[in-house]
Amino acid sequence: MVPPDTSARLTVLTGPSGVGKGTLVARLRERHPNLWLSVSATTRSPRSGEEEGVHYFFHSRAGFEALVQADGLLEWAEFAGHCYGTPRQPVQERLAAGVPVLLEIELEGARQVRRSLPDALQIFLAPPSLEELERRIRGRGTEAEEAIQRRLARAREELDAQSEFDAVVVNADLDKALSELERLMGMHSH
Ligand code: ADP
Ligand code: 5GP
Repeated sequence: MVPPDTSARLTVLTGPSGVGKGTLVARLRERHPNLWLSVSATTRSPRSGEEEGVHYFFHSRAGFEALVQADGLLEWAEFAGHCYGTPRQPVQERLAAGVPVLLEIELEGARQVRRSLPDALQIFLAPPSLEELERRIRGRGTEAEEAIQRRLARAREELDAQSEFDAVVVNADLDKALSELERLMGMHSH
């Protein structure tokens, strides 16, 4: 029997804000240029250095609602006062072409994908502790205090949902978390 092609599939990576998803995904993409990372639509404003169409597609509320109305999003959710969603068509095109796809999305979106695409591999990235998570969010220095508080409150809810996922990876040591992610995704490390 031919073994299933575990590398050409959809992976969903979820975890609380500040846990290190962006950092890990950047490392993963350097090592596996064939992995396609979905670019989400959002209503939040760009952080310094973020580019339209690279990090996000930045929309007004009305623009985002138009995408929802047109059924253009595979999933979408509100997070800490802003809307985020995955454009449907580019994901479908990549998967149809056999390209491995990665979605880096929050909990509610992961739940929607679980319903619509139950074969997706769902991975939860967890912090070593809540204290360390808070240190990382603050250390990143991209959010104001109010936004930090909203993200920490939401983090507690997300951490409670880890058991829904196929696998939990603890991001204590970055290199170890990276290898674990590669192993789960069926990617060969080199
Ligand atoms: P997320 O995308 O999940 O919100 P980031 O990738 O922006 O998180 O990481 C938040 C902060 O934590 C960044 O400053 C990043 O450098 C740091 N960080 C990420 N992984 C680790 C790790 N394993 N150990 C220590 N700091 C980390
Ligand atoms: P940030 O504002 O820090 O870039 O992202 C905030 C949260 O939104 C993160 O947990 C991130 O994973 C999530 N997110 C980013 N894009 C999407 C998306 O398309 N859909 C959903 N549901 N969440 C997303």
